[in-house]
Amino acid sequence: MRRILIVEDNADLANGLKRNLEHEGHRPVVAGTAKEALLEAAREAPDLVVLDLGLPDRDGYHVLEELRSRGVQAPVLILSARGLESDKVKGFRLGADDYVTKPFGVVELMARIGAHLRRAAHEDTTVGGGSLSDEVLHSQYGLTERQVEVARLLARGMSNAEIAETLGLSTYTSRNHTEQVLFKLGASTRARVGAILRGEV
Ligand code: CA
Repeated sequence: MRRILIVEDNADLANGLKRNLEHEGHRPVVAGTAKEALLEAAREAPDLVVLDLGLPDRDGYHVLEELRSRGVQAPVLILSARGLESDKVKGFRLGADDYVTKPFGVVELMARIGAHLRRAAHEDTTVGGGSLSDEVLHSQYGLTERQVEVARLLARGMSNAEIAETLGLSTYTSRNHTEQVLFKLGASTRARVGAILRGEV
């Protein structure tokens, strides 16, 4: 079962996709705005993102750019009515893995999603391995249980406000934990936390 984030403001389309993905045995989550998409991406750590470009607040390119800058490596499949070559090129330049134009065939879309998930799972097993476990963060770095949670959310690119909301803390407490995490991990910036947790440094 894979976690799939559907970023789509057309509720009918989003629910149709959701049902199809559930039928395939996946766990889809729907976000209808760019803001929600970034929050859900941080919360859910999706295995794949289906991304519409025309969203009510910011466009999908912004979401894609932001996800990649936060170190999210999950495959991103753009699903858009914009079919110009320049749109597609822009998407691929920003880090998309696939681009499907609307209207689309559901069977083909499911097949493409399946293919991306298989490839991503394969890369995970061949490349991964260096990431730090909760146990190591406790025993070697001295993080408390709460700070481990904060560190994981920081690694996904969450802001203090988002961490506070997710864990039900005040922003003051959340900021304190963040400072402790940075200090204990010896991370100079928040962005560095992700690299440390993934074992890249
Ligand atoms: Ca749209």
